[in-house]
Amino acid sequence: MSESHTKRVIPLAHNESYWLLDDKLIEAYASVDARSFSTYAHYTNLREKLAAYVGARVENVLATPGSDAAIRMYGELCVKNGLRVLLPVPTFYGYERIFATLGLPFGAPVYAEANGEFQFPLMETLEAIESDSVDVVFLCQPNNPLGAIISDESIEWILAAARKHDVTIVVDEAYIEFAGTSLAQRIHDQNIVVFRTMSKAFGLAGARVGYCIADVETIAALQSRMLPWPIAHSSVQAALAALAMREKLIARLKLLIDQRDLFAASLREVPGITVYPSATNFVLTRVPDADAVHARLLEQGIVVAKGAPMSSIPEAGELLANTVRLGTPAPEDMAVVLDAIRQVMDK
Ligand code: PMP
Repeated sequence: MSESHTKRVIPLAHNESYWLLDDKLIEAYASVDARSFSTYAHYTNLREKLAAYVGARVENVLATPGSDAAIRMYGELCVKNGLRVLLPVPTFYGYERIFATLGLPFGAPVYAEANGEFQFPLMETLEAIESDSVDVVFLCQPNNPLGAIISDESIEWILAAARKHDVTIVVDEAYIEFAGTSLAQRIHDQNIVVFRTMSKAFGLAGARVGYCIADVETIAALQSRMLPWPIAHSSVQAALAALAMREKLIARLKLLIDQRDLFAASLREVPGITVYPSATNFVLTRVPDADAVHARLLEQGIVVAKGAPMSSIPEAGELLANTVRLGTPAPEDMAVVLDAIRQVMDK
C-alpha cells in the first residue's frame, strides 16, 4: 500500500497531530481570495503575531517555510563560517540529512538508555564545549525521535558552559508546546537560536510555517539566504488564524496529551512491546521485529515510522534498533490501531 492519503490511511509516521486541526484553520486556509492569489504574500503581520506568541521582538523573529528551511539555512551559515558543529544523536533525521547534503561535518555524542529511559549525553556535550572544540551545539527539546526531554538542570549546565566558551546553542523546539521550557526569551542573554514550527501543536504540518528566533544579525543572515515569498497566502492565513486563537488551541493540547498517555498505557499492556516515556505528540516503542510491525501495519493502512533508519551514526542506529515511532491516533482511530498492533504482536 502506498502512503497516499486515501480514506483508510491512519497517518502515524510523521508526528503531525493530524486530528487536532481546528475547523477555523481550514476555513482560514480556504478564505484566500483571487486577488491575493495573484499577488505575493507579505509576512510582517505573521512575524508580529509570532513574536507576540513567543514573547520576542519582531526583529528577532523570521518566518520560514517549515522549520526545515531554518535548519538548512543555518547549516549553510555553519559551512560558510567554518563552524564546528556538535549534534547529539539521535535527533530529527533532517539534521543528518541536511548536514550531509551541505558537506557539514559534525561531532555526534549519543543518547544512552538506562532504566527504560533515554539520557542526554551531557558529559560529552560539556566536554566538547569546555575543550573549545565546538562552535555550535544543536539540541532538540523535547527530542524527536526519542520523545525524551533534557532536564532544566542539564540545560542550565550547557548554557553556562556555552556562555563561558562563546558557543552558540541552537535549540529545536518543534514539540515545546507539549513539554519543556522554551529558551526563546533568553536569546538576549547569550548566543541562542531557537527553531519553532506551526506543524505540531497547531496541526499545520502541510501549511509549512516554521519560524526562527535569534539575534538580529543571525536573523538577517538567514533572511538573506531565503528565497523571496517562501510561504503561500493560504498558509499565512491559517497560521494567523491559529495564532489568533492560540489560547484555545494550546488548551486543547491536553486532549492530545491525555490520548497519548492512554495510547502509551494500552501499548504497555501488549506483550513484547517496550514503551518509552514521551514529552511529545508521539510514542517511541521497541518491538522484536520493527520491519515486520511496520509492514504489517501498513497492510492495514496504518503508517508508522521505523526508528533505525533515522540515524547514520552506528551507535544511534543501535539505540534505535527495532524501534517504531507512532503518532497519537485520533480518538476514533484508537481502537483500530490498538487492535492491529495486538494482532501483529500476537503472530
Ligand atoms: N524539527 C523537529 C524536531 C521535527 O520533528 C520536525 C518534523 N518532524 C521538524 C523540525 C521539521 O518540521 P517542519 O519543517 O514541518 O516545521
